[in-house]
Amino acid sequence: MDNFETLLEGSAAAHGHLCAGQVIGVRMAMLGLQLIGLEDPKNSDQIKKLIVYVEIDRCATDAISYVTGVQLGRRSMKFMDYGINAATFVNLETGCAFRIVSTEKARGLASEYAPGIENKNEQQLTAYKVMPLEALFEVEEVDVDIPPEDVPGPSRLKAICQKCGITVRDGREVRQQDKMICHSCAGIAYYQNPRKVKHFNLRN
Ligand SMILES: [Zn+2]
Ligand SMILES: [Zn+2]
Repeated sequence: MDNFETLLEGSAAAHGHLCAGQVIGVRMAMLGLQLIGLEDPKNSDQIKKLIVYVEIDRCATDAISYVTGVQLGRRSMKFMDYGINAATFVNLETGCAFRIVSTEKARGLASEYAPGIENKNEQQLTAYKVMPLEALFEVEEVDVDIPPEDVPGPSRLKAICQKCGITVRDGREVRQQDKMICHSCAGIAYYQNPRKVKHFNLRN
């Protein structure tokens, strides 16, 4: 694993700006990887052993993805929409897992660790770089039961929606009145009133 400064520079570039979230995310990811004993996760041997659950879709999440190499499309990053600045690092080989939560109290400590900086964002960014990990984070060892249909690798399950005929992978179909159907047909999709568009061969 690269050192903190190098990782921070890279994550800020990938994320689009340097922010307090990048500092938090990089430090959280480095700690998480150390705790589960995978310190070289971008090495092809280790990447398959790692899953990270993130609990918020904000700045730090991008830093975690950058440092660990986990990606939604590889199924190594799981997004749980809890609105909490936290992530759980799982070593699939050992089953060892740690959940790290970014503390609220760290905000209050920023002036102590970066005195003399007027701008709040600047102060937080600077303070979070040097604040001890114990002030920045709370850590808990947890058990994570990862269902077989959630692990990386080829789809194990495939169903055909009994209403519209679309293929639903990975056991994400839902049962309604004894039929296995897709989220859209069940009326529980994130969008409403789908209206077919017939002509969309606009330009190549
Ligand atoms: Zn940001
Ligand atoms: Zn359907």
